[in-house]
Amino acid sequence: MAAYLAKAGIDCVVFERELFPRPHVGESLVPSSTRVFKDLDFLEVLEREGFPHKYGAAWTSAASSRIYGHNWKGLEAHTSVDLRFAEREQEGVAQPYTYHVDRGKFDNLLLHHAHELGAKVYEGVSVKGVDFSDPEQVTLRYGMGRRDVETTARMVVDASGRRTQIGNQMKWRLKDPVFDQYAIHTWFDGYDRRVLSKREEMVDYIFIHFLPVTNTWLWQIPITDAITSIGVVTQKKNFAASRESRERFFWEAIGSRPELFEALQSADRIRPFRDEGDYSYAMKHIVDDRLVLVGDAARFVDPIFSTGVSIALNSSRFASRDIIAAAEAGDFSVGRFRTYEQTIRRGTKNWYNFISVYYRLNVLFTAFIQDPRYRIDVLKLLQGDVYEEEEPPVLTRMRETVSEVEANPKHVWHDYLGSITSNAFVDALQRTAEPDMGVRA
Ligand SMILES: Cc1cc2nc3c(=O)[nH]c(=O)nc-3n(C[C@H](O)[C@H](O)[C@H](O)COP(=O)(O)OP(=O)(O)OC[C@H]3O[C@@H](n4cnc5c(N)ncnc54)[C@H](O)[C@@H]3O)c2cc1C
Repeated sequence: MAAYLAKAGIDCVVFERELFPRPHVGESLVPSSTRVFKDLDFLEVLEREGFPHKYGAAWTSAASSRIYGHNWKGLEAHTSVDLRFAEREQEGVAQPYTYHVDRGKFDNLLLHHAHELGAKVYEGVSVKGVDFSDPEQVTLRYGMGRRDVETTARMVVDASGRRTQIGNQMKWRLKDPVFDQYAIHTWFDGYDRRVLSKREEMVDYIFIHFLPVTNTWLWQIPITDAITSIGVVTQKKNFAASRESRERFFWEAIGSRPELFEALQSADRIRPFRDEGDYSYAMKHIVDDRLVLVGDAARFVDPIFSTGVSIALNSSRFASRDIIAAAEAGDFSVGRFRTYEQTIRRGTKNWYNFISVYYRLNVLFTAFIQDPRYRIDVLKLLQGDVYEEEEPPVLTRMRETVSEVEANPKHVWHDYLGSITSNAFVDALQRTAEPDMGVRA
């Protein structure tokens, strides 16, 4: 956001509580991020720094898995599906790949880039609260050393991530009633990424490996030629309270895929385990007078499709247009930010419903990817082109199929319905159609 605003000549200041670089989860991007990098002249930096190119994505499951190993009429037994981004051209995206990123390095470069474009950047400065009572300006309170200091601004953008600084202050945060996933992750050096990739060209894809525990999967994300990020995502109930038992869970879960287990055991773990929990939520409001929320501060959807960074980047792309127009007009009232609000809510609603379909009836995703009628439309979603249509037709078709399967206990897919999102669509649609999801944290 600061890069966009500074580039437009707007005076802006970033307060960042950490000292960069710092580690962060969220290392695999989707191609709609490229439009932002292009706008900000940041593609050159990504290429110069050698971030791994991500040409596609693959999903694998254990052949013996009852949940994800399928073999029935109309759908052959497939334990692996994959997609290349090059299969669908994207307007405004001139390269057939996106990137995997070490977030410590990537975030640091992006922060410096914003500074080079003219934004003032303060690291190690934590915003503690924002006062909106004066209609002419906002007052920010932040900590500097041991002192609390105040400053005024024409408006504020909350980009505080899952800390949701303003959302908490305003009591706007609404916990997602459906998704309660947790994750444990780390980095390995020397893991052989060829172990489950069918073709050499797939080695640097993101892999999602399903584990035969309901709603449990593992990400495999290249960080460098030798380093790979591995994370296990599971339901809260499987996520034990103690760190030792969480680590045990990590290895036990991976043990259900022996090839993976062996390859990881012969690699070196080079980072401590980190865990992330209880991360899905929405905000009752994401814009107000002199205020815009972007990225995770505005909404978090389950990370199964590597959505978060692209949502964060694109939310700044869309919101910056409204903010620049507001600055030109000298009017920072809430009505100025409605285009952003509608666009980002539409996009995150589509992501959310796609993810809900996926968890509810995983086999459907596999079937649609293999079906030439739907493959490119599914790819469009996975590329992150979710902001234009109210509901992409392929998503409507998927939802209808799930409803048919739910309503028919004799349907060959009925037994494969997942538990996590029982009735999720209905709820998701209602909740996201109305900003108030109806459930308070
Ligand atoms: C398990 C898991 C796996 C994920 N995998 C992926 C993935 O593969 N791909 C993907 O794209 N996304 C993924 N994500 C999501 C991704 O991590 C986030 O969506 C993304 O980092 C959001 O960016 P952001 O800029 O909104 O927030 P952040 O990147 O969190 O940045 C917020 C910044 O605000 C600072 N801050 C917070 N509070 C204050 C304060 N009071 N004052 C000053 N500064 C403050 C923080 O220090 C931080 O640097 C994953 C998330 C999880 C939980």
